[in-house]
Amino acid sequence: MALFASAPIPRALTRRSALLGAVSLLASPAFQPAVAATPQLPDIWPHASQVPGGVARLSLGPATARPVAHAADVPLLVLGDVAAWTALVGIPLAAVPGEAHITVQAEGQGQRQIAYTISPKRYSEQRLKVSPKTVDLSPQDQARYERERDHQAIVMATFSEPWPQALRMRVPVPGRRSSSFGLRRVFNGQGRNPHSGMDIAAATGTPVAAPLSGRVIDIGDYFFNGNTVWLDHGGGLLTLYCHLSATDVKTGDVLKTGDRLGAVGATGRVTGPHLHWGVMLNRTMVDPALFLAA
Ligand code: ZN
Repeated sequence: MALFASAPIPRALTRRSALLGAVSLLASPAFQPAVAATPQLPDIWPHASQVPGGVARLSLGPATARPVAHAADVPLLVLGDVAAWTALVGIPLAAVPGEAHITVQAEGQGQRQIAYTISPKRYSEQRLKVSPKTVDLSPQDQARYERERDHQAIVMATFSEPWPQALRMRVPVPGRRSSSFGLRRVFNGQGRNPHSGMDIAAATGTPVAAPLSGRVIDIGDYFFNGNTVWLDHGGGLLTLYCHLSATDVKTGDVLKTGDRLGAVGATGRVTGPHLHWGVMLNRTMVDPALFLAA
């Protein structure tokens, strides 16, 4: 299907040749520039944002079969059709601004690199003084956290087919959405990992719905995240739901967009009920707001 055919961002050269084409068309007396020739792109892509925590959309050009693309050793989501393929690259919050690249292998073509530029983005910082007990884990809690971290790393490495047909998502729960993705947190002067998801305020028990069709790949009760559900949408696109008061699905369930997966709660290390929603691309947490239609 040509669902993705018109969406990729042209590379500079392609854009220049397109402009040259337009100029020669304009010179032709038969050409009537009645309407702006802006193609109506299907509303399926995440917003591109080449910053730490953002998503790059890189045009791979035509190829007879879906190219295989990697960032370092991590496989990338590649969508499109024989006329135009696009790689979607999640950029880590810890990425250093500047030049980055992906490697691409297409059928009948040699391996090549595609470079792109990561622009700096300054996320805000939150300094908190909290009880040392909440910062320093007991040896038991530390051991539990490390076990869970290792398990989560396996979940996060999921890369499956079928490839997603669309990437735009619905909000999983109605409520006030904080813009705290990327917030740098400093507890008692100690830097912590930046906030890697979107917090949505909602009362305990509010249903949480799948924002996109996907398969349940993990359910657990984790030290920091509380009751948690991971969905796999294919091609390394995963979503994460934390602090749930209830989970209504089991591993292996296939959900359609809008299907209930659980309910908002305050489980794990939280101060009040809310949904922590994470979106992961190529094992990288990216800003969920980029995937929302509005
Ligand atoms: Zn959160």
